[in-house]
Amino acid sequence: MKSFDVIIIGGGVVGCMTARALSRYDLKVLLIEKNVDIGMGASCANSAIIHAGHDPIPGTLKARMNKIGNPMWDRLSLELGIPLKHTGAYIVAVNDEELSCLTDLKQRAMENGIRAELISAEEMRNREPKVNPAVTGALFTPTAGLIDPFAACIAPLENAIENGVQVMVETAFEDFILENKTIKGIHTSRGDFACRWVVNAAGVYSDEVMHKAGVRPGFKITPRKGEYFVLDQSEFEMQNVLFPVPSAVSKGTVVVGSTHGNALVGPTSTVSPDPEDTAVTGAGLSEIWQSALRLVPSLNQRAVIAVFGGTRATGNATCTASGVDYHHDFIIEVPEEVRGFVNIGGIESPGLTAAPAIAERVIELLLEAGEPLQQKENWNPIRKPRARFSHLSHAEQKALGDADPAFRRIICRCEMVTEGEILAEIHSPLPATTYDAIKRRTWLGTGRCLGAFDMPRVVEILARELGISPLEVTKRGGSSTLLERLTKDVEEQDDPQG
Ligand SMILES: Cc1cc2nc3c(=O)[nH]c(=O)nc-3n(C[C@H](O)[C@H](O)[C@H](O)COP(=O)(O)OP(=O)(O)OC[C@H]3O[C@@H](n4cnc5c(N)ncnc54)[C@H](O)[C@@H]3O)c2cc1C
Repeated sequence: MKSFDVIIIGGGVVGCMTARALSRYDLKVLLIEKNVDIGMGASCANSAIIHAGHDPIPGTLKARMNKIGNPMWDRLSLELGIPLKHTGAYIVAVNDEELSCLTDLKQRAMENGIRAELISAEEMRNREPKVNPAVTGALFTPTAGLIDPFAACIAPLENAIENGVQVMVETAFEDFILENKTIKGIHTSRGDFACRWVVNAAGVYSDEVMHKAGVRPGFKITPRKGEYFVLDQSEFEMQNVLFPVPSAVSKGTVVVGSTHGNALVGPTSTVSPDPEDTAVTGAGLSEIWQSALRLVPSLNQRAVIAVFGGTRATGNATCTASGVDYHHDFIIEVPEEVRGFVNIGGIESPGLTAAPAIAERVIELLLEAGEPLQQKENWNPIRKPRARFSHLSHAEQKALGDADPAFRRIICRCEMVTEGEILAEIHSPLPATTYDAIKRRTWLGTGRCLGAFDMPRVVEILARELGISPLEVTKRGGSSTLLERLTKDVEEQDDPQG
């Protein structure tokens, strides 16, 4: 049986950041992910906001992790080449009742140690001319920003791999191998692995994983779905991140750009019994649009190019000595019930923002548990950035194309993604093996044509490079094949002469 010091279950942003943090030390680390690629859970379906930290209840772990995580992204962005925009964010009041809530929110921000500034309606209209003219005031949090959520998973894990971490995709955790309440290893869909520590980073399934370790039997994740519209970048002229005044269950429908230029409008917040339910609904989309119009009345539905949904891992109840407590805080702990287990659960928003802080908390917990962590002398924090054709000057594009003709072949016209970039992703430390994996890494197929032009060519390239039939190329793994049969076969069948 292969043996590791630490096995991480789950390749979302929390698992990937934890893998990178652990890669600094002399440890044999394995990350397993049940899907065909990493970052296919909540980490790829969110608002991509690096939250300032004004919103979590003061004193909670969530508030602390948000505050610590936010500035960590500056350095991570530089070291790992993760696109990050410092935008700040506005919580916009559009009536007097909401205006009075802003004062409470500012107070909460101050208690959380977060910079926040109340601004007048006039100032808000000056800063964002497209805001609802009925605006009554706003709270500005300057430290909020926008990140590429896909790169936030892929980049740290690639760097972790370059520093020795092993990754197995399409490998599902099934159960623990326990002896005398001590973890000795895990059973997975690809066999058994021995280990001294397991980190639970399984997102919406984190409750099931902890229950198998005998931890927090009363804790239950209640998946909470969020639906979104994606707006074409050419039709969206706002640079600002606008939130409504939040409710008890959600920060509300945001109107927000992205690091890539497209804009998002959403999300909803509805309880869904199925953790995999990311389907959008007519009711959900209509609710989002109505809410968004309260912030920006001129939003035009003609700008909508796509819709998607994601699921928050909301923890709704914990068992304490005094009974069941409802709460929405993060769980990051080394529980007493079992040895060798770092338990992470209930990582809903702002989990993306908090992920680097959560990863560092895992290191602290291991040290507190007596794990003698030795820093590697040759640890390399830098992930070499890959060429992005559309970001280059004409001279740079020409030089790239002269050095490698694959960079002269444009595969995605909307986003100007070349074959050279696709090949680099297929042969990267964390190989992209599906259409969506290429899309998450290059943003190909996210323009107006939504992949209609590039998809057949990407299928061809994937088939050629992976040595498989085009019929076997999938959109996102499993049964999501893109082709029914080859045109040649159809012609042969239809033509009686052969
Ligand atoms: C609608 C929405 C909007 C949000 N907006 C923001 C925002 O703007 N800013 C912000 O900071 N946060 C936001 N969040 C929260 C943030 O996206 C999440 O907190 C974060 O992505 C959680 O990361 P994770 O790694 O814990 O979970 P995930 O990304 O879900 O990763 C868990 C991984 O574990 C894998 N897994 C599960 N079970 C197994 C198993 N048995 N074996 C192997 N692998 C397994 C899954 O396949 C998955 O890849 C939002 C979330 C949603 C849903």
